[in-house]
Amino acid sequence: MKNMFLKPYTRRRFLKHTSKFCLKVGLSCVFFSGFKTEAFSKTATAFEPAYLKLHKTGELKKRAEKLWAMMETCQLCPRACGVNRLEGEIGFCRTPGATLAVSASHPHFGEERPLVGKGGSGTIFLTHCNLRCVFCQNWEVAQLGRGVERNLDELAKMMLALQQVGCHNINFVTPTHYSAHILRALDMAAGAGLQLPIVYNTSGWERLEILDILDGIVDIYLPDFKYWESAMSAKYSSGADSYPEMTRQAILAMHGQVGVAHPTKKGIMQKGLMIRHLVMPNNTGGSEKIMSWIARKLPKDTFVNIMAQYNPLYKAYDYREISRRITGKEYKKVVKRAKKLGLTNLDVQGYWWL
Ligand code: SF4
Repeated sequence: MKNMFLKPYTRRRFLKHTSKFCLKVGLSCVFFSGFKTEAFSKTATAFEPAYLKLHKTGELKKRAEKLWAMMETCQLCPRACGVNRLEGEIGFCRTPGATLAVSASHPHFGEERPLVGKGGSGTIFLTHCNLRCVFCQNWEVAQLGRGVERNLDELAKMMLALQQVGCHNINFVTPTHYSAHILRALDMAAGAGLQLPIVYNTSGWERLEILDILDGIVDIYLPDFKYWESAMSAKYSSGADSYPEMTRQAILAMHGQVGVAHPTKKGIMQKGLMIRHLVMPNNTGGSEKIMSWIARKLPKDTFVNIMAQYNPLYKAYDYREISRRITGKEYKKVVKRAKKLGLTNLDVQGYWWL
C-alpha cells in the first residue's frame, strides 16, 4: 500500500521543478557561511561516518591519490578504456579528461524514504555516464553531458551546504567515473566538518579493485541491478556484456563492506546496502531471476527497491520491446515473486498509473 495515492515523484520531475532553485539556495548557504565553518547539520547525531577515521589517519587522501593516478590509463570502471584523462583524453563515458562536471546539487525528496527523512537526501548529480543505456531515464545529464564545470573545492562546498540545510546524507548519483574526484573532495569536506553518511548511487557495474579502495569510505551503497542476462545488458547498455556478472560480484562485495541496511529509530538510513531494480517491459531485466539470486545469496532482509517508473525515454523507441511503460500485471508479478522468495525488506512502490 506504500505510496499508493501519491503521484510518482521521479528524479526527472524533481530536477525539472526544483534543481535551479535548490542549487542557488544550497550554494548561497556556503557563500554566506564560509567554507571553513563549523558545519552544522540539523540531523547530526552520534553517528560517525566511516570516512572520518580514514580522513584523520591520512588514509582517505592516499586512497584518493590512488584513484586519481588510475586516470592516467583510466581503469576507474569496467570499460577500462586506458585513456589518459589527466592529459585531457576522453574515454567511453565522455568525461572531458579529469574535468569535473555537476548538473545539480540539492535536497532530493524523491529518493527512498529512509534516505529522504524530513531533510531530504543531499543529492549531487554528476554529469556523464560509463554505462550509457538506450532507455536512460536521465539522458540529458548522463548522455548529453548537461552540467557545469566545477572544481574540487566547489564539490566539497556543495557537500557542506547540503549538510547545513539539513540533509541526511550526501548522495552521489552516477559516481563511478568521478570516484577520484569524490574522494579528494570528501577529504577536504571531512576536514571542514562534514559528518553525513556517503551514499554511492551507482549502476552497480563496478570493478572490485575500486570497491576495495572505497571500503571504509562509503556508508551506504545504492546499486542498481538492471539485468540478469548479458545479452540484454550488451544490447541496451552499449555493449556492457559483463554487467550481470560484475554487478553480482560487486553487490556481494558491497554487502561484505556495509552489511544489511537497517534504519535508525527515526527511520533514517546511515549504513548498509540498498539495491534498486527497475522492472522493464517484457521482462527485459530478468526481474524474477534477480529476486531469486538476491534471496539465495544475501540475507532475506536485504533492502530491495522494486521500481515501477520505467519510461521509454532517450532511444527506447528504437527497440519495440522496451518502447512502452510496464503494466501493473508485470510489476505485481515481480513483487509477488520477491515476497514468495522470503524477501522481507521490500520497497514496493505505488503503481496505480500502470
Ligand atoms: S571512467 Fe570513463 S574513461 Fe575511465 S575507464 Fe570508465 S568509461 Fe573509460
